[in-house]
Amino acid sequence: MKWNLDDIMPLDKFDNLYREVEGEIKTLEKWVEKVNPKMSQKEFGQMLEFNEEMGVKIAKLAYLPELIEAVDQKNQKAKLMKSRVDNLGLKISDVATKLGLWIQGKREPILDDKNAMRLFATISDLEYGLKRNREGARFSLNEREEQIIDHKDVNGVGVLSELREMIETEFEYRLKVEKLDKKISSQAELLAYVYNPKPEIRKAAYTALLQKQKENLDKFFAIYQGIVKDWGYETRLRGHMSPISVRNWANHVPDGAVESLLKVCSRNLDIFQRYFKWKAQKLGLKKLQRYDIYAPLQSKDKKITYEEAKKQILSTLRDFSLDFEKKAKKIIEEKHIDVNPGKSKRGGAFCATVAPEITPYILLNFTGKSRDISTLAHELGHGIHSLFASKHYPSSQQANLPLAETASTLCELILFEKMMKNEKDKEIKKAWLSDKMADAYATICRQNYFIKFEIEAHREIEKGISAEDLSKLYLKTLKEQFGSSIEIDPLFKYEWSYISHIFESPFYCYAYNFGELVSYALFASYKKEPKKWIKIIEKILESGGSEDPQKVLKRAGVDINDDKFWQKSFETIEEWQNELENL
Ligand SMILES: [Zn+2]
Repeated sequence: MKWNLDDIMPLDKFDNLYREVEGEIKTLEKWVEKVNPKMSQKEFGQMLEFNEEMGVKIAKLAYLPELIEAVDQKNQKAKLMKSRVDNLGLKISDVATKLGLWIQGKREPILDDKNAMRLFATISDLEYGLKRNREGARFSLNEREEQIIDHKDVNGVGVLSELREMIETEFEYRLKVEKLDKKISSQAELLAYVYNPKPEIRKAAYTALLQKQKENLDKFFAIYQGIVKDWGYETRLRGHMSPISVRNWANHVPDGAVESLLKVCSRNLDIFQRYFKWKAQKLGLKKLQRYDIYAPLQSKDKKITYEEAKKQILSTLRDFSLDFEKKAKKIIEEKHIDVNPGKSKRGGAFCATVAPEITPYILLNFTGKSRDISTLAHELGHGIHSLFASKHYPSSQQANLPLAETASTLCELILFEKMMKNEKDKEIKKAWLSDKMADAYATICRQNYFIKFEIEAHREIEKGISAEDLSKLYLKTLKEQFGSSIEIDPLFKYEWSYISHIFESPFYCYAYNFGELVSYALFASYKKEPKKWIKIIEKILESGGSEDPQKVLKRAGVDINDDKFWQKSFETIEEWQNELENL
């Protein structure tokens, strides 16, 4: 039940590989010093190959300590290895910046368009990445300026983010309700109580959380303001259209597609509001409070062992696609999954793709809840996706944002459908569907409104706004998403200040609703014509990150700039809600 990391490399090979890469950075630097527009395709190709191979070695050096630490967070050796790799990273980034600027035509000897196209065509798998890098020239500054920004970021906004985390980790929460009086030292532990069956406890947990945020609002506001202004300054400096465009560019998504996504999500609020009204009724409440949205319908859950979960997922995948099953089996049989929770193991779950030649690794904290089996399906989906794309060069294996959640969400969806079909107990089905709706709210609607808040917050902070008014602005977005379906305690206006994503990576949150909805739409099409769509889906996964995601989807008949496409994704959610009401 523990993963075998030897397939990355045995621990005792770390030092040797480290020294090898140190030497190779110098070799790459020499390559970079002699690049010129007239160079032959052969020479350019050799440099790219060298760079890709070095990339794999660096990935091995970086992932090994990362994964050791993930299951043993107190491992000092892993921490030391990690900091050594960080140092290596700085050296590499200097060379990479130079090469990047040359590719963009911003470093002597200047690479002209004609020669750029000639050289980029050398290895077709890497062409999209190179072209895109060159297009980025319109947003990049000169070498000196880029270096200054790099360093100022580390010592500036980087520190602001750390500071926010430090303030938060020092918090001690007090959960006090009736006979319960408990001191809680971590936010994650506190937030587990919002799923508690008892309404008083859910309310107490949220109150403990938001009260602390309120007491420290001035600090969070100062930090947020600093981050937002820095982001805005760079947006203008680099000539992006708007603060969110910076993120869109990095995500390979056109502004128009994100606008369409935000618009259609807001247009479909009523489906979630219908769910909340239904839930209020089920819980015997006149109206749902904001504290109650994640309340469980019943306290019993079906327990399942890991062996059963594995079997169930594999048989579900088999019905969907033999290739999916084969790839999932590969990950399981090669012992690339770390299953059980452990004392110093990190929480949550993830899938790590190290390199095309290495089967991906999955970390779980499996306890046998029905949520755990969908998590396993989700992470296996990520692994399956990487394996579909393993014929690519390392730098073009991983899918870009619009497609990154395709396989993971699909695996979850097909498993869910199968579980629902096989379950006879109506109460359990109801509970599962209700959880599914609550999850869909959290990944789609909630994230959508974080983005809408950020757009306004970035605009208002530039103009000048107080912490209290910014909080009021947040409350307004809550009122819009819940309408009359939920009563919101005014304390929730301070909620924005604990959303780490809006501090650490502005406008990141649409990654969730974007990915989720793309998969829902593909799933809806698949259900109508399974034979045709399974082929299309596999083609999409095979493309990895080697092509423009917009183009890949277009070939599948999907236009992410079209409102109608996003609307289609909501069909699946509507079906769930209808079924819930009918049960
Ligand atoms: Zn995922």
